[in-house]
Amino acid sequence: MKSKVYFVPADGKETAESLAEKAKKAYLATGLNDRIAEDEFAALKIHFGEVGNTGYIKPQWLTGLIWEVRSKTKHAFLTDSNTLYVGNRSNSIDHLRLAWSHGFTPQTTGVPVIIADGLIGHDKQEPRGAQSRTASSKIASGILDSDVLVCLTHVTGHVQTGLGAAIKNLGMGCASRAGKLDQHSVTHPRVNAKQCRNCGVCMAFCPEAAIVQAEGHVVIDPAKCIGCGECLVVCKFGAIKMKWDEDSIRLQEKLAEYAWRVFTHFKGKAGFINFLIQVTKDCDCMAKNQKRIVDDIGILASLDPVAIDKATADLLVERGGGKDLLRAGYDIDWAAQLAHGERIGLGTTKYTLVELA
Ligand code: SF4
Ligand code: SF4
Repeated sequence: MKSKVYFVPADGKETAESLAEKAKKAYLATGLNDRIAEDEFAALKIHFGEVGNTGYIKPQWLTGLIWEVRSKTKHAFLTDSNTLYVGNRSNSIDHLRLAWSHGFTPQTTGVPVIIADGLIGHDKQEPRGAQSRTASSKIASGILDSDVLVCLTHVTGHVQTGLGAAIKNLGMGCASRAGKLDQHSVTHPRVNAKQCRNCGVCMAFCPEAAIVQAEGHVVIDPAKCIGCGECLVVCKFGAIKMKWDEDSIRLQEKLAEYAWRVFTHFKGKAGFINFLIQVTKDCDCMAKNQKRIVDDIGILASLDPVAIDKATADLLVERGGGKDLLRAGYDIDWAAQLAHGERIGLGTTKYTLVELA
């Protein structure tokens, strides 16, 4: 059976008010709002961006959608989990400051921000259910203690998974720090000594001090490396590689299994909104302004995380004139997360696109 994916087109000339209206329209079309019972806890999962990043979903785009959720429950909140790497979102105090600085305040959105895995990322629960890559998922407690989940996702490319969309937001974004570590543990970057210019930039960015000086180049200490991928992004000379096929596919399959355990927990009370606005090569964890890789496309909404991500990827290929814009950024088979998600019952790649006027 096909899943429905709702699509509201948008171009680069939209005002914040217009995008808020479109996001609300897409969200209401899914019917999720009608399933929210009075005063249920509704987690609005988002990425608040990074210092210097401008691609994140702006709080003003969410006012209409949040108003609808609040008409059902006074227990709605915006949320994210702390990051694996040390930075502006690795503990709840810094994370909240970052969210406020990007405008996610109760005055703007009407709802509080709660970091879902506690002060330093230790608050987690571990739903089980064996799959081929994992037996359980370490998920932020604030997510699993909620009754309703709305995943608000800014679509981007990604250095390790090729595509960062609903499945990524669900599987990695809802994981506690231990859960993120568990998923990343299958990636093993290494330095190509011939390409390394010994500039030292990667050493400064590595959160685990896993990159050390060798003779004329740097090397990665596998015992310390947590596989976060920061070094892959910051090396301008392409000297840091991972085994794209093996590492990325293993990571994507773990990601899909993590996503599946969160999704099944909500028993039909989870929905997904993908913003194809300012789509960039790298994700919003990058502390820099990034260029669009394609003109703005619009907003998608669905109750099926696999279907919405397939529709997202298809639209990106279509708007790229048939060229896979995600693979142009990183040559990664991003479809692995969709294929594994479909295999394990997370959703279907077969969908009907319903365009809303
Ligand atoms: S950033 Fe790249 S070129 Fe510079 S030291 Fe690291 S691996 Fe070598
Ligand atoms: S070596 Fe690279 S992937 Fe490993 S922890 Fe450091 S930045 Fe992350």
